[in-house]
Amino acid sequence: MNADTVREWLAGAAVSVREQREYLTQLDAAIGDADHGANMDRGFAAVVERLQGLDEPPGKLLTTAGGTLVSTVGGASGPLWGTALRRAGRSLGDAAEFGSAELADALDAALAGVIELGAASEGDKTMVDALAPALRAFREQLADGATVAEAAAAARVAGEEGMRATVPLRAAKGRASYLGERSVGHQDPGATSTALIIAALERAVATEA
Ligand code: ADP
Ligand code: MG
Repeated sequence: MNADTVREWLAGAAVSVREQREYLTQLDAAIGDADHGANMDRGFAAVVERLQGLDEPPGKLLTTAGGTLVSTVGGASGPLWGTALRRAGRSLGDAAEFGSAELADALDAALAGVIELGAASEGDKTMVDALAPALRAFREQLADGATVAEAAAAARVAGEEGMRATVPLRAAKGRASYLGERSVGHQDPGATSTALIIAALERAVATEA
């Protein structure tokens, strides 16, 4: 995997977020302030534009993408995903290519960054509820000898399960936590966009051994 893999991942995420913008906004209207679709769309569109013609190694592309999210998205999701991509980029370093082990480490660094910044645990009804099980599935599959493509497919499934499992949860972090019990019965918007971003990764590595 290389810089093109990262470009394809982020461009694919931007397309999905654009397509699902209204849905993400509806989810955020129920338990937040109805800006999650707009936030993620604005952020990932800016990322795609920023990376255009930028001839950098994959880690640097991710770091730049993270910085772009932080500076273009006002909501909580901007700094959180921005930190995630920056940490992933830093983890990959300056190498022109990376393998499954480096990708797993980069994704774990991304999750660690989200947890460090947002202090959410699994079960708090946030993006962590999609990201954490996805990355566990990714590692488990790799340990079982799966290809990156197979591991990413398993990560996507686990991420979607985690996303759906946020419905009965009571929000303990972020804006939705102000609602207390009234946050129960709604799917978390950030977990939903996270599932889209993991699905974009699955597509970007679909042909990788
Ligand atoms: P805001 O809440 O500022 O309007 P967004 O609507 O863009 O920002 O994003 C909301 C999403 O951010 C939530 O659905 C949740 O998944 C995620 N989120 C909020 N706070 C945290 C946190 N402390 N840790 C992890 N994720 C969080
Ligand atoms: Mg919001």
